[in-house]
Amino acid sequence: MLPQVIIIGRPNVGKSTLFNRLVGKKIALVDDQPGVTRDRRFGDAELAGMRFTVVDTAGWEDQDAETLPGRMRKQTEVSLQGADAALFVIDSRAGLTPLDEEIGRWLREQEVPVVLVANKAEGRASESGILESYSLGLGEPIGVSAEHGEGIADLFGALWPII
Ligand code: GDP
Ligand code: MG
Repeated sequence: MLPQVIIIGRPNVGKSTLFNRLVGKKIALVDDQPGVTRDRRFGDAELAGMRFTVVDTAGWEDQDAETLPGRMRKQTEVSLQGADAALFVIDSRAGLTPLDEEIGRWLREQEVPVVLVANKAEGRASESGILESYSLGLGEPIGVSAEHGEGIADLFGALWPII
C-alpha cells in the first residue's frame, strides 16, 4: 500500500483542484459552489519517484458557514486515522477565517504530520494571506497555485521527508 496523504480544509479553498493537480486527472469535481465534493475520493500521485495515494475530503462542507460540524467532521476524523500526512489547504487570497482557525486548532491536536498549503498563491494578492497563515502554528506555509500548477515542486519537497 502506498503512503496516504489526505487533503483537508474548509469549502472552496481549492482542495479538489489540488487533488486533480496531484493525481493528474480530472477525478474530483471542482465547482464554485462549496460542498460539491460529497464524499472522499482517492487517487494516486507520482512525482520524481515518490508515489502516494491522495484523498480528497469534504469533511467541513455541507455546513452553515462557520459552525463546527458534527457528522461530516467525524468522517474527516476517520479518514485521518489511515493517513500518513495531511495537507491543510487555506485560501491565501481570502485570508484566514474562523473556520480555518478551528480546523487548524483541531489538526494541531492530531498525531498526523501536517503540511500547511497556502493555495491560490499566484500573484501578489496572496502575500498577506500567506503571512497571516503562520499564525496557525503549523509551520511554514507552502504557497501553491493548484489551478495554475505553481509551487507543486515545493509541496513535494515538504512531503518528501514525512511520507
Ligand atoms: P474545494 O471546495 O476546497 O474542493 O475547492 P475547489 O477545488 O472546488 O475550488 C473552489 C474554487 O477555487 C474554484 O472556483 C476553483 O477554480 C478555485 N481555485 C482552485 N485553485 C485555485 C488557485 O490556485 N487559484 C485561484 N485563483 N483559484 C483557484
Ligand atoms: Mg472539493
